[in-house]
Amino acid sequence: MKKFESLGLSPGLVESVELLGFETPTPIQEKAIPVLLKGTEDFVGLAQTGTGKTAAFGLPLLELVDDAQRDTQALVLAPTRELTLQITNDLENFSEKFKAFNIVAVYGGASIGEQIRKVKRGAQIIVATPGRLIDLIDRKAVRLETIRFVVLDEADEMLNMGFKEDLDKILSYTPETKITWLFSATMPREVRSIMKNYMTNPYELTVGEQNKGNVNIEHRYVLVPEREKYAALKRILDFTPEIFGLIFCRTRIDTQRVAEMLIKDGYNADSLHGDLTQQQRDRVMMKFRNRALQILVATDVAARGIDVEDITHVIHMNMPDEMEFYTHRSGRTARAGKKGISIALVSRSEQGRIKQVEKSLRTPIKRMMVPTGAEVCQKQLLALMHKVREVKINEEEMEALLPSVYEELNHLTKQEIIKRFASLEFNRFLDYYRNAPDLNDVETKGDGKGGRYLTGTRFFINLGKMDGLDKSKMLEVLDEMAGLEKKDIGKIDLKGAYSFFEVEKGKEDHILRSFRGMEYMGRPLRVDIAGPEATDRKPKERENGKSFKKSFKKGFKKKWK
Ligand code: AMP
Repeated sequence: MKKFESLGLSPGLVESVELLGFETPTPIQEKAIPVLLKGTEDFVGLAQTGTGKTAAFGLPLLELVDDAQRDTQALVLAPTRELTLQITNDLENFSEKFKAFNIVAVYGGASIGEQIRKVKRGAQIIVATPGRLIDLIDRKAVRLETIRFVVLDEADEMLNMGFKEDLDKILSYTPETKITWLFSATMPREVRSIMKNYMTNPYELTVGEQNKGNVNIEHRYVLVPEREKYAALKRILDFTPEIFGLIFCRTRIDTQRVAEMLIKDGYNADSLHGDLTQQQRDRVMMKFRNRALQILVATDVAARGIDVEDITHVIHMNMPDEMEFYTHRSGRTARAGKKGISIALVSRSEQGRIKQVEKSLRTPIKRMMVPTGAEVCQKQLLALMHKVREVKINEEEMEALLPSVYEELNHLTKQEIIKRFASLEFNRFLDYYRNAPDLNDVETKGDGKGGRYLTGTRFFINLGKMDGLDKSKMLEVLDEMAGLEKKDIGKIDLKGAYSFFEVEKGKEDHILRSFRGMEYMGRPLRVDIAGPEATDRKPKERENGKSFKKSFKKGFKKKWK
């Protein structure tokens, strides 16, 4: 294995790094350092946090920047205040035994005057979040004409957080001759566009498994009347006792209101919004980060840059007005390769936004049902029993106390004890949910034979009993061909040579597309929307009847086995 000195770094720098306990370079350091040290090429590194990328760009940067000059020569941009501070701290540690740099961190939420003073003292390296750097540029406190190196760290996150315009502006102020190094965990279109616009033929390096970004987020929505949203939120929280969640509201007032109601209803919640002082915000964030807080309710702006690991759920009280906000909100979960769930509480008037987001993300947002009262009770009871099973028992201390307890309970059977014990904790849930209404906004319910709900579009399919299908086989066909699950499907009406099935509105295009060109037992499949009045009649060909015929001839065919 290679050592740091073999990568071309100066002995002073190697010594500092070794003092930090870095013995051997990580793969990205081994590959990137020799390339970056040349200081002549643009560079793109696909790597996640934790791979050692800070040293991978930091060490070459410290070599290339001249500490004898006071001009700002390098600019490192990062999405969050935390990351900015961490990079600054790392660079200071690396350079301790090497050169006398003035490295200044520039980020929002701290005194801008102090940061301006530090920059004016002559910062060879500025590590900044894009928003605050723009403030400094606007106040003419930084000069970027002398910049030789720009590092974009976690570029995908910066774009996710809505910093695209800020980045464009900042990069436009830096000289054409600068060298740009970009690091990103994912390579979405927006990052490619930054590469195209601002970099020249960059050296590309991928380290480890590429994080596919959103793939770990499961996107869902529930359809509820606006007035039931808070009740639906509570159901979801009660149904998910292990939640460590972030709830987004559009306005400060809503944020405060939802948090206050949650606190009043006994949840471990707090809020983060623009009316709080920086100190109050820091306090809330610290509680959340330390898990002393289970639910944080926040506005989009206040939650910019929240970088807390292990958030299990992001809940949107309403669909945001801006598309990027949805991505930014959802991206707070499923971090560092973990899984996460994003749930939007959507009223009928917001339903169209779901389709827009689906199209833009190219990811389906599945509808889920608000759990019923009975489902919540079942889940809570199981969670309670799980806790009972897992609880640590202090045998010694218990031993002395238990005889009188045994005596008190000895006339009860094991079953009775369990029932009483569960009721003790659980009666409040039973009381609350005893007559709990269905909160889902649905036009018509399923008939119980297919899925659980239906707001219904009726489809015709040219398969039926004559093909040997029964309902469960038909469900399999619909699942295999169009990814429809039982809960997506309403009534299935099997006829001889054809059938009808109903699916909630909004999936028409997807379903028609999925069946195009498909075969079942060698027979081309045909699916079309059946008119609402259609009963047992086959639907008419579509106006432009050619579309189906044409699709039969298409090359791609899939055999149903
Ligand atoms: P990063 O991906 O830059 O955030 O680094 C992840 C963690 O790995 C940080 O705590 C670094 O201090 C540590 N680290 C980076 N490079 C090395 C190395 N070569 N040997 C040991 N630890 C390292």
